[in-house]
Amino acid sequence: MTKTIYLDYHATTPVDPRVLDAMLPFFGAKFGNAASSTHSFGWEAEGAVEVARRRIADLAGADAGEIVFTSGATESNNLALKGVVAASGVERAHLVTVATEHKAVLDSARALEGAGCRVTILAPRADGLVDLDELREAIGPETVLVSVMYANNEIGVLQPVRRIGAICREKNVLFHCDAVQAFGKLAVNVEADHIDLMSVSAHKMYGPKGVGALYVRRRNPRVRLTAQIDGGGHEGGMRSGTLNVPGIVGFGEACRLAAREMAEEYGRVGALRDRLKQRLEEGLDGVRVNGSMEHRLAGNLNVSFERVDGDALLVALPDLAVSTGSACNSHGGGGSHVLQAIGVPAEWAQSATRFGLGRFTTEEEVEYAAGRVVEVVRRLREQRPV
Ligand SMILES: *Cc1c(COP(=O)(O)O)cnc(C)c1O
Repeated sequence: MTKTIYLDYHATTPVDPRVLDAMLPFFGAKFGNAASSTHSFGWEAEGAVEVARRRIADLAGADAGEIVFTSGATESNNLALKGVVAASGVERAHLVTVATEHKAVLDSARALEGAGCRVTILAPRADGLVDLDELREAIGPETVLVSVMYANNEIGVLQPVRRIGAICREKNVLFHCDAVQAFGKLAVNVEADHIDLMSVSAHKMYGPKGVGALYVRRRNPRVRLTAQIDGGGHEGGMRSGTLNVPGIVGFGEACRLAAREMAEEYGRVGALRDRLKQRLEEGLDGVRVNGSMEHRLAGNLNVSFERVDGDALLVALPDLAVSTGSACNSHGGGGSHVLQAIGVPAEWAQSATRFGLGRFTTEEEVEYAAGRVVEVVRRLREQRPV
C-alpha cells in the first residue's frame, strides 16, 4: 500500500523540523525550570520562555505581558469563560456564544450554566456566519462575555471577528475569540479585531502538542480574570504550574516562522484547496460544500457526497487521512454539532468529509486524493443504485 496522505491539518499539524530543532536543546542540557531564580539553569530557561512569549505576542499584535501559557486551547477556553465569569462579580452573569463553537467553549458554557449563569447560544446562518443583528440583540446588561471563534475547525468558516469585536466594544462587553485555526495562518491582530481574550494552540500551527496560550488584554480595558488552577502563582497568578519550557520554545519558533511565511503559504494552500474542489466537482455530481466558500480558511474543504455512506467512504480510503461528519465528533457520537447547527440534513451530514490542507501538502498529494475520492464515490454509488 502507498503511504497515507495526511489531509487532517485541522486535527493537528506535523511539527515543523525547524521547530523541533529549536526545542531539542531544552530536553537536554538546557533542562532548567523557568521559575528557578537562583541559578543559571533557571535563568536560561526563563530567558527562552520570554523570547517565545514575545514572538507569540508579536504575531497577535499584543504585548508579551498579555500572554498566559496553558496546556493548550482547551484549557485556554476554559480559563477565558470561567475566569471572566468568576471575576465579574455579576450574580447571574450572562454569556453569549454560537452553536458552531468548539466543544471546549460550548462545554465550558454549559458548565457555567449549571453553576447559575445564563447562556445564549446563537444559531448561525446556513452559511455558518453569525448574524450580527442577532448578536447585538442578545447582549444585555448582565452580559459579561461574548465568545465567537475566528475560524471553524470543521467547515473552516471565518466569522466577521472585527465587526463582532466592534459591537462588543460599543456595548462594553468583553470579547473572547478562539483563534486556534486562524492564528499563524491569517493576520490576526487583537487591536484591529478588538479582541480582549484569545485562545491559541501550538499544535495547530506546526508546533508541539500540549502547549497553548491565552491572550488577556491588560489595558483599554484591563481584563479581570480569576485563575482556574491554583498553585505557585506562575503566569502572573493566572495559571500556576511549572512551564513546559521545550513546548513553549517550540511554540515561539512556530510563531516566528508563521510571521515570515504565512502570507505566501496561505495563497499556496488556498490554490491547492481550490484545485481539490475543482477536481471533485469535475469528476462527480452530487457534491455539496458545507459552509460559506467565500468566508473560509484557505486550507479547508468540507464536502458531502450525495448517495454515499460516510463510513463506507472512510473504509474505502485507508490511504487518505481525512475526517468525516461522524468522525469529527467521534468522542461525542451523534454526528457533527457544527453541520447540524448550519442545517445540513442528516443524510448529507453523514457523508461530510473534511479535507484539511497545510504547509506540507503537495500538488501530487491533492491530485492523488481527488482521483481516489472520485473513484471510490463512483464505485460506492454503483453498488447502491438509486
Ligand atoms: C484544536 C482546537 C481546540 C483545542 O485545542 P487543544 O490545544 O488541542 O486543546 C480549540 N478550538 C479549536 C477551534 C480547535 O481547532
